[in-house]
Amino acid sequence: MTNPSTEKPCPFCNGTDLDPNRWGMGGQYTLCKTCGAFGPDASSGITWNDRNGQENKGEKQ
Ligand SMILES: [Zn+2]
Repeated sequence: MTNPSTEKPCPFCNGTDLDPNRWGMGGQYTLCKTCGAFGPDASSGITWNDRNGQENKGEKQ
């Protein structure tokens, strides 16, 4: 189950086809299924919703 109401659109492609329940990299993260960008969880101090305008782009394709 996804919960798009808590996730902002992808900061890179503006897509809303997000999977906020991915697990890996030591925690939960959000994956953009449109462009492949992903955001780490709060354990790294950066949430998906905080990524706008930041340099940490993950694996943007
Ligand atoms: Zn995207």
